[in-house]
Parts: sequence; structure tokens; C-alpha cells
Amino acid sequence: MANPHESALHYPLGDALPAPGTTIEVAPGVRWLRMALPFALDHINLWLLRDRQDGIEGWTIVDCGIDDDTTRARWEHIFAHELQGLPVLRVIVTHMHPDHIGLAHWLTERWSTAERECRLWISGTDWNAGRMASQSTTGFGGDSAARFFARHGLIDPEALARVRARSNYYARLVPKVPGRFRRLMDGMVLTAGSAASLHRWRCIAGHGHAPEHIALHCAELGVLISGDMVLPRISTNVSVIDIEPEADPLPLYLRSIAALRSLPATTLVLPSHGKPFTGLHERIDQLQAHHDERLAEVLAACSERPRSAADLLAVLFKRKLDLHQTTFAMGEAIAHLHALQGAGRLTAVAGVDGVLRWRTIN
Ligand SMILES: [Zn+2]
Repeated sequence: MANPHESALHYPLGDALPAPGTTIEVAPGVRWLRMALPFALDHINLWLLRDRQDGIEGWTIVDCGIDDDTTRARWEHIFAHELQGLPVLRVIVTHMHPDHIGLAHWLTERWSTAERECRLWISGTDWNAGRMASQSTTGFGGDSAARFFARHGLIDPEALARVRARSNYYARLVPKVPGRFRRLMDGMVLTAGSAASLHRWRCIAGHGHAPEHIALHCAELGVLISGDMVLPRISTNVSVIDIEPEADPLPLYLRSIAALRSLPATTLVLPSHGKPFTGLHERIDQLQAHHDERLAEVLAACSERPRSAADLLAVLFKRKLDLHQTTFAMGEAIAHLHALQGAGRLTAVAGVDGVLRWRTIN
């Protein structure tokens, strides 16, 4: 959902955007590039860190883009013109969503040599989830997803048929996840930089958006690579999906972003979508308020009469949604319902039609 209070944030680079196949330095040794995405969300930000590993000077890539010809060609352009003739030494992936991990297999193969493997670094949970999703139909479509959405009131036969048909959604964007990885964990400190200037990046695990999202904070540079956990213009997707139908991800997400308040207010945030910004604490306040408002709306709607998640789409989103957006919106609506259930405010009753409808507990 678009941020109505975006003016409280500051964009130190103004309207500057890296042109396709080029980069902009956003901090010493940290470069920003963008790749196009074929969704309503039309781009992803990726990052290059000047690095040195095993005595070799080069670069670390943070997040990859989806696997398509355009993205591969733009990477080749960057390799030819933006790396000062140096190799890519490793690929860090913040989380398993297709726009972040899609090309990890190609990038790591592209830069591995007989002497040295270019390794994928990622949380263990997201590596497993990505490997599984690239080889199956879980989570984003197919019969199981269609049944899950029907249970939550999405009964339009055409929409369900399209969800059922979309069984290769993830694998189409992520045909492969590397078979070997190095595990990132909360609190782990990575060192990146050139011989002249090394920087320490602390891994910060976050939950509620992906299984085990890793953001990276460098105190010396005052920079947070926030991934999808904190975005300036849109709220992070927090969804319940069919493979974990009773999940309660919203409290996990809110706790994760609250923990980022311990970072300095002046931190330059490098988000995966939108522009680099300062105003981390304001943005966390805005996101907390956003979800408090959505929870209040859901509670008010359910106190009038029992409502399914599908009934709540009009309450929560107030605009026309295409199928892709509808499936995300359903996941978000269910996340808010489950948070209220967890707080003891709502309970669900299955109707004779099999649809779950939620009512307030008095
Ligand atoms: Zn994501």
C-alpha cells in the first residue's frame, strides 16, 4: 500500500536513479543498480560491495534479480563496465523471493573458477525454502493455494482456475537455486571492502515477510541494506500462504522492524524497492501505525457481521486488484485476521459453504 506520509522521509540522492546496466555509488565502496521486474512493482534495487576475499580483490553482489534474458544482459553490461576489471567473489541474498534469488544460480556459476567457487550466502531457512519452491508448486499457485483461498472466501471460479493454473510461478522465475551455500545467521558479522578500507556488516534476521530474511548493517558507513523489511513507499507484504495456513506472521514482522529502532536515526537505508532514504525511525513508526489502522478496520468490519478474508479485501484495499495483487491481498488480509485471533479478539467459524468467517469475541 502506498505511503501517504512519504514526505517525512528524506532522499539524500534526490531523484537520481541508476540507468539500466549502470551503477551509482551510495556510500564508499557501495554501489546501487536496478533491474526491471515484470510486475506492478516494476524494479528491484541490487547492491555491489567492493570486497576482498581470500586475498583477492573484487566485488560482492547483494541480491540478484529474476532469471530472464534482459536481467542477464544488464548484468553482463555491469560486469564489463562497472567492476573496474575485478571479479565477483560472492553473492549474498537477503531472502528467497524470486526477484532476490532468481539469478543466484547463474551469477555464482558465472563467477566460479577452477580455483575458487563464487558462493551463495543466505540464511539456511531461505536456502531450503527457495530450493523447495524452485522444484515444486508450493506457496504461489496450484491446487493447494486454490483450496486455501476458497476456504478464505475467494470463490470466483475464474480466479480459482487461474490460481490453480499458476503452478509454476516460482520455478519460472527461479529455475534453480545453487546446491551449496554459506549460512547467514542473526548477529553474524561479515567483512567486506578493499585492502585499503574494510567494513564490517552485521546480519540482522527479520521475520514475517520471508522465512528468515537477512538485512545487513554497517555501523562505520551508517548504512542498512534493508532488503524488503523496510521500504519507503510501500508497506512490506506480510502474508499467510497455503503451505503454512495457521501462520501468524504480522507480530513477527512488527517485532522485527521494532528491533531496527536500535540503529541510529541517521542511518542511510538501502531498500530493495524505491530510493535510498533516511528517516528509519519515522518509517518504522509509519509502518506500525499502518498495521494498527488495518487491524482496527478489520476488527470494526468483523464486529458488524462475520467476514471472510475475501470480504475484507474491499475494506483493506479500496481499489481494483488484478489476480496477482488479489493473491497477495488475500494473504495480507489473513495475516491481519490471524494477528487478531492471536490477540484473542477474533474467532473463525466455518459456514455451510466451507468458508471461514471471522467474528469478534466479546
Ligand atoms: Zn520479498
